[in-house]
Amino acid sequence: MARTAAPTAPLELFGTDALIGEEDLAIRDTVRRFVEDRIRPEVGEWYEAGSLPARDLAKELGRLGVLGMHLEGYGCAGTSGTAYGLACMELEAGDSGLRSLVSVQGSLAMFAIWRHGSEEQKQEWLPRMAAGEAIGCFGLTEPDFGSNPAGMRTRARRVGDDWVLTGNKMWITNGSVADVAVVWAQTDDRIRGFVVPTETPGFSAPEIKRKLSLRASVTSELVLDEVRLPGSAVLPGVAGLSGPLSCLNEARYGIVFGALGAARDCLEATIAYARDREIFDRSLASYQLTQAKLADMTLELGKGMLLALHLGRLKDEERLASEQVSLGKLNNVREAIAIARECRTILGAAGITTEYPVMRHANNLESVLTYEGTSEVHQLVIGRAVTGEAAFR
Ligand SMILES: Cc1cc2nc3c(=O)[nH]c(=O)nc-3n(C[C@H](O)[C@H](O)[C@H](O)COP(=O)(O)OP(=O)(O)OC[C@H]3O[C@@H](n4cnc5c(N)ncnc54)[C@H](O)[C@@H]3O)c2cc1C
Repeated sequence: MARTAAPTAPLELFGTDALIGEEDLAIRDTVRRFVEDRIRPEVGEWYEAGSLPARDLAKELGRLGVLGMHLEGYGCAGTSGTAYGLACMELEAGDSGLRSLVSVQGSLAMFAIWRHGSEEQKQEWLPRMAAGEAIGCFGLTEPDFGSNPAGMRTRARRVGDDWVLTGNKMWITNGSVADVAVVWAQTDDRIRGFVVPTETPGFSAPEIKRKLSLRASVTSELVLDEVRLPGSAVLPGVAGLSGPLSCLNEARYGIVFGALGAARDCLEATIAYARDREIFDRSLASYQLTQAKLADMTLELGKGMLLALHLGRLKDEERLASEQVSLGKLNNVREAIAIARECRTILGAAGITTEYPVMRHANNLESVLTYEGTSEVHQLVIGRAVTGEAAFR
């Protein structure tokens, strides 16, 4: 069967670039080039080896200007929320592990200090973190408390003017490479956040190995064994679970876009493969069954992008509610993983190696589905919003 027209990229078909301002497009294209030149040639190897050159990459990402990019001051770029989302999309088109490094640094660790920290904490950490010279992590989850962080057992007690922290955190991105950990702990007066330099005696962060997902990302346990900190280590601006939740909301927002980057990369790689692959004397792309799959995936990718851009606009107008972030996170991660799996079928056996990005993305998206609020937790958030009934417990 003869080819009738030059192909159009899925998101081009939707014309979504027309909804994005010039400056935001320029930022997106810069990040896209970085991912093409620096990440794509190496990421398959990092994934297979289960390692990431996080320290080098952090400095390069700092020079690129993406660390804490949507925050104002302290060496941060102060871009729009939409630009931040688009950067997450490009980074995750490279690998979810890369995007996780940036999300945890900017939206969790830096944001916690930026929003809730003292002026002294901001001056000490934010400029170095924006430059990628210091890496941050965010310790909320514990071995027995993931979806329900309110039950956390990590405790901070007052000893004279100091604080002493004891407990364990689990599944902490960047943990073993971090210079500073934002750790949430139960105190006599609600949950509080602490800025913990990782060189403090009693702090250790053993890396979690044998992961089959997010292999190009550092994931760690945090052990806090009588970690003694000065009184000034507490984040003064917040008490209670609203502190960590405010940070998670920022990171979840990045994922709304990020997951689509992984999906787009899968779909583009698959379309290129299907056009080249000859099956029964014709290109795989020329079969109706293949085209039905590609059309359905294109639709979901484009719909997800429209949703992400809508949420981006609301964020830029400071009107974005956390329930709306849940809509985006639930939909876009769920559709991204479905796209990755469907793409894998089109690649056949070739789809199971790291020669193509598809199964790497699919495996990564398993983590993305779970962290920053599982799909079920976001269903409960949306369910509560539309019924007025909380069904969490
Ligand atoms: C690679 C990776 C990196 C991570 N990085 C970080 C990090 O940097 N910092 C950090 O603090 N955490 C991090 N996490 C932890 C992540 O946020 C938690 O895994 C997540 O919150 C889920 O917790 P859990 O794994 O304990 O699952 P659980 O909470 O035990 O949930 C298990 C299952 O029960 C379901 N469930 C939970 N509550 C309900 C309910 N009320 N009704 C019905 N079903 C329910 C869940 O949806 C899920 O399907 C990371 C996780 C991964 C995998």
